[in-house]
Amino acid sequence: MVMVLLDFDRTIIDDDSDSWVISEMGLTEVFNELRSSMPWTSLMNRMMEELHSKGISINTIAHCLHSAFLHPNILSAIQSAHSLGCDLRIISDANFFSIQTILEHHNLLGCFSQINTNPAFVDDKGCLCITPFHDSTTLPPHACHLCPPNMCKGLVIDQIRGSLGESKTRFIYVGDGMGDYCPTLKLEGGDFVMPRKNYPLWNKICSDPKLVHAEVHDWSSGEEFENILLNLVNKLAT
Ligand SMILES: [Mg+2]
Ligand SMILES: [Zn+2]
Repeated sequence: MVMVLLDFDRTIIDDDSDSWVISEMGLTEVFNELRSSMPWTSLMNRMMEELHSKGISINTIAHCLHSAFLHPNILSAIQSAHSLGCDLRIISDANFFSIQTILEHHNLLGCFSQINTNPAFVDDKGCLCITPFHDSTTLPPHACHLCPPNMCKGLVIDQIRGSLGESKTRFIYVGDGMGDYCPTLKLEGGDFVMPRKNYPLWNKICSDPKLVHAEVHDWSSGEEFENILLNLVNKLAT
């Protein structure tokens, strides 16, 4: 089986979904005031309270997310990989609301079997609440020094591997950020990593390529994303 694990921000969509909402909804000033005093997930939760207090509805936030750019070749690459029988999953430090909203808008939600991200729910006042994926107030914090406290993506890969049992699965991991380095180190020979070229994950891999066991295929454009991903899927399938 071929499993394609994808980051979301700056991988599936061209921008960062949190930053998109902050700038498009006019939150830049209050965001900058609070940035240094709060962890990212708490800060995004606080931004949602800010929008709610201004009377901005969930639908308006969803509408804003709809306008985030998703390259047509990335869209078709995901659809093709799904129809070729790959198991596609998301591992993202964004939040469930943003990811679900964007994927539904582009008719892609059904292509994914699992979305690992920070949970989001609407409370009884109609405010969107975002909570950490790994909640250090209720669970012992993960021990990974490479990852932010709320999410270790490498731990997610370990859990996915553990759930697969004996079946032989090859992984293709696609990402751009520093949070994608820990899961990249968890890949084995025979797996593939697709870092977005000139982004932090690519720089980090290039700084010491020997540490990465997976075969590295970088990409810049949506066209390259599609060509490389589908080539790898076909290679693994034969
Ligand atoms: Mg990213
Ligand atoms: Zn980690």
